[in-house]
Amino acid sequence: MTAFKNTLITCQKCGKRIAVKARDFEKGAIQCTHTGCGYLNPLVQSYYDERILLGLPSFGHLVYVANPVMKYPLRLGTNVIGHSPTCEVVVERYVHEGKCYISRRHCTLEVLFNKWTGRFRYQLQDGASDLDSHQYKNSLNGTQLNGYLLQNGEKMDLVDRGLLGLGGKDVFRLEAYLIPEKMLESYRVTKAIEPDETQ
Ligand SMILES: [Zn+2]
Repeated sequence: MTAFKNTLITCQKCGKRIAVKARDFEKGAIQCTHTGCGYLNPLVQSYYDERILLGLPSFGHLVYVANPVMKYPLRLGTNVIGHSPTCEVVVERYVHEGKCYISRRHCTLEVLFNKWTGRFRYQLQDGASDLDSHQYKNSLNGTQLNGYLLQNGEKMDLVDRGLLGLGGKDVFRLEAYLIPEKMLESYRVTKAIEPDETQ
């Protein structure tokens, strides 16, 4: 950590400037001295280095509820799910009374890393971009999140153990990947916030 001499920061609550001494940086926070404010401004920030993503064994997977031996791994970033071989997650053409309810490119699940919490976020949207026209196309029979039918263009978070329904007949359970605490700690970055320019 850089050692700061006396410097100024802007209070996150009242916007006025506060003088910060080196010992405040050691404490990690400073209380605003302006009348009526008193906000405790953090002087360090902590997040997880994204290089942690290079060494992970998994980014979570989907389990077919009707037959849990069917598991579909997810990747970081965009996962188009459907039965077309062009999808990142290719599911079987599950058939019910002679009909398949899953579209070729049915829905899109974004796997995002939150560097502040060290957790993954799984954001679901019905439909996918068409590879030829590059236009976004909705599925024929809709996408459900825990039984709720997603509306056009609506994005919602699928949480661990949440249920993803494709076309109303086939349901998949999300098994989110949780990075082990010990590994997270070894990628934690803590650094002092940037002070304002000294006058
Ligand atoms: Zn203040």
